[in-house]
Amino acid sequence: MKAVSPKSEAKAGSLSKEEVQRYSRHLLLPEVGMEGQLKLKAAKVLCIGAGGLGSPLSMYLAAAGVGTLGLVDFDVVDFTNLQRQILHSTADVGRKKLDSAAETLAGINPQVEVRKFEAKLTSANALEIFRQFDIVADGTDNFPTRYLVNDACVLTGKPNVYGSIFRFEGQASVFATKDGPCYRCLYPDPPPPGLVPSCAEGGVLGILPGLVGVIQATETIKLILGAEREQSLVGRLLMVDAMGMKFRELKLRKNPECPVCGLNPTIHELIDYQEFCGVRAEEASMTTGMPAIEVEELKRKLDAGEDVFILDVREPHEYQICNLQGHLIPLGDLPKRVQELDSSREIVAHCRSGKRSADAVEFLQKAGFHKVWNLTGGILAWADRIDPKMPKY
Ligand SMILES: [Zn+2]
Repeated sequence: MKAVSPKSEAKAGSLSKEEVQRYSRHLLLPEVGMEGQLKLKAAKVLCIGAGGLGSPLSMYLAAAGVGTLGLVDFDVVDFTNLQRQILHSTADVGRKKLDSAAETLAGINPQVEVRKFEAKLTSANALEIFRQFDIVADGTDNFPTRYLVNDACVLTGKPNVYGSIFRFEGQASVFATKDGPCYRCLYPDPPPPGLVPSCAEGGVLGILPGLVGVIQATETIKLILGAEREQSLVGRLLMVDAMGMKFRELKLRKNPECPVCGLNPTIHELIDYQEFCGVRAEEASMTTGMPAIEVEELKRKLDAGEDVFILDVREPHEYQICNLQGHLIPLGDLPKRVQELDSSREIVAHCRSGKRSADAVEFLQKAGFHKVWNLTGGILAWADRIDPKMPKY
């Protein structure tokens, strides 16, 4: 088999009797066999994130006998993670994801060495961490880290096994191999701030990271075994639509103009994009000049019987989870339903976290409303600080 990447050479070694038994279904495959299993044992794979994608990815790689698994994560397990992040169980809520993950992986295969990197991946640590591994599997859920992973893979010469998910749709590919395209060949620059909602805002079908993470695990194992390029996702973007259960693919070419892997690259070092896209930028745009009200102040006004009109700009299914008995007009419907609102009354707009309602306040101000405020932190802040019995999502 022809290698597509700097595959790890199997160390002069052998499998113990127990390992032979454990991997017998691999050993029976001519495409894996003893040689392939020793390659897996010698391989070092870094998983970025121990969340939705990182769960099936690391669990299957551990089960398959990948000798060294690195995990980068700095989060703790949250109740809302359990719907998809199967590395973690209910009893792990509140624990560090790395600890919970390492325990689960050791339970699956105690022969795997798990290296924990409890840190946020940044331009300062990425290259040093990546150099310790043969392949990087990207399970991140945000653009700044995705660009960081891609660039660090190109700069260190490590293949980037990519996966991403949103609502019912997923993508997978293998980027940054020697002759293959990278993520920037496809998308040269990150999207503008605030344009792309995160999983927390947009929702995601729980099994979707399972589907996509397993594709990433498959591609990782094939890279280690030295599968031919035509058989791998190098140069192909696989798109999964779980609702229609359709798998489509896009041919990708290495872009000679690519800013990081092209003929005349302009990017020679890592960039931290946090300030340009992602949460921080959204928060900044929300707080500048926006009339806002804190949940405590709203509670005081309501308790005092003041005339406050609560406008809820979320979607009906969110209203069913929890609400402040506000008037529901989803943000997208606001332009055509604005006549339902009385501009002489005080209006407090809210959504889940305060982002959509900030857009609503901006819209209403332009439409001539002068007494309109954004509820800072949205209904989540209300649940945290006013009504702890209210369910959060
Ligand atoms: Zn490129």
